[in-house]
Amino acid sequence: MNGFELTDEQAAFVEAVRDFSARECGTRAQRDALTGGGEHPHNEELYAKVADLGWLGVAIAEEYGGSGGGMVDLCLFLEAMSYGQLPIGGFAVTAISAGPYEKFGTPEQKEDVLRGIVNGKVEAIAMSEPEAGSDVGALRCKAERQNGSYVINGQKTWISEAHFAEHILLVCRTDASGAKHDGLSMIQIPRGAEGMEIRGIETMGGRVVNDVFFEDVEVPAENLVGVEGGAWMQLMAGLNSERLIIAAQSLGFAQRAFDDALAYVKERKQFGRPIGSFQALSHRIADLATELQCARLLTYAVARKVDANPGQLFPQEASMAKLKVTETAKKIALEGMQMMGGYGYATEYDMEGHVRLNLVSTIYGGTSEIQREIIAKTHGL
Ligand SMILES: Cc1cc2nc3c(=O)[nH]c(=O)nc-3n(C[C@H](O)[C@H](O)[C@H](O)COP(=O)(O)OP(=O)(O)OC[C@H]3O[C@@H](n4cnc5c(N)ncnc54)[C@H](O)[C@@H]3O)c2cc1C
Repeated sequence: MNGFELTDEQAAFVEAVRDFSARECGTRAQRDALTGGGEHPHNEELYAKVADLGWLGVAIAEEYGGSGGGMVDLCLFLEAMSYGQLPIGGFAVTAISAGPYEKFGTPEQKEDVLRGIVNGKVEAIAMSEPEAGSDVGALRCKAERQNGSYVINGQKTWISEAHFAEHILLVCRTDASGAKHDGLSMIQIPRGAEGMEIRGIETMGGRVVNDVFFEDVEVPAENLVGVEGGAWMQLMAGLNSERLIIAAQSLGFAQRAFDDALAYVKERKQFGRPIGSFQALSHRIADLATELQCARLLTYAVARKVDANPGQLFPQEASMAKLKVTETAKKIALEGMQMMGGYGYATEYDMEGHVRLNLVSTIYGGTSEIQREIIAKTHGL
């Protein structure tokens, strides 16, 4: 139920992703085996299988081996894979990292990175620092030009999938003399670069994020992606897709949490009847279903707008989609836990995992407060 008609090809694609997920990780035992009990949300062997199916290139141009689809196709894949709980957590950040290469990369960088993604390589992007979170422009990790190279020093934090990414797309400072948003550049750091140290950060959600330290890391000047000093503009150019990618992924998580809660309230009996027959719960389910459908309609409406207007920025709409879907997903998971009583809180059921997963989506990729700031700005505030 996407709120608009899918083409036959899109419907078949979604069906295929759903079937694959049900086969590969439809049971809790399968998911635990693939993720080490939830510790590792990205399974490399499974990712390779998904690559073989050609799905990782859903929105990558055909000249790099992809299927050449648009944002709607990418959103359909993200929604279906997260609904299916496919442990391929590296895909979303890979899709986000692809954007700057597609728009600003050299032909060689595109060939390397975009074809690599289609073939199952994971990519990471590093903006955040201990003192620069929401205020990305305050970042200090610096790169200095020296004899045809960049020499990098500094620290990044919260970097998703850096520990197995093929490259980290580093957003760093190449010039500190001007305004804070000027003088930022994107530089590609290959896996295993000398002087780069990656340390995992313990979180509630398993092994996903990392601190990354750079000490005199030297890369050739050709590793610059786009224009020196142009990273801020390049980041802005990617906001449509970054926000929609997170929204579509959260939509799948939200639908999964909703379906699990619904199944539970239909089955669990108290006072001699299914708890879902109590109006207190059935009306909550009705409200959540309505919220979820609003979130879905918004996501696909924005995705269609992006597809219909390539190159145009939709800061208001993209922020609205990210805000609405992630807040809805968080609400559904928390309500789901409440409706499942003690069993919602127990790790034996998936709901507590849904809560952890959905709580953080309103933080990464720009917090809800930052999305509201952007939306307010587009209203002249
Ligand atoms: C699981 C996870 C994965 C991540 N992956 C990546 C990644 O791959 N690459 C990467 O670069 N970063 C990544 N991040 C970092 C993420 O983007 C930041 O955590 C996020 O931007 C918020 O920054 P912060 O944590 O420093 O919080 P802060 O910026 O310190 O914010 C703290 C609180 O203050 C609020 N706040 C801040 N400024 C304002 C304001 N102007 N108005 C109103 N409220 C404000 C925030 O909304 C928040 O509630 C990840 C984070 C997490 C948790």
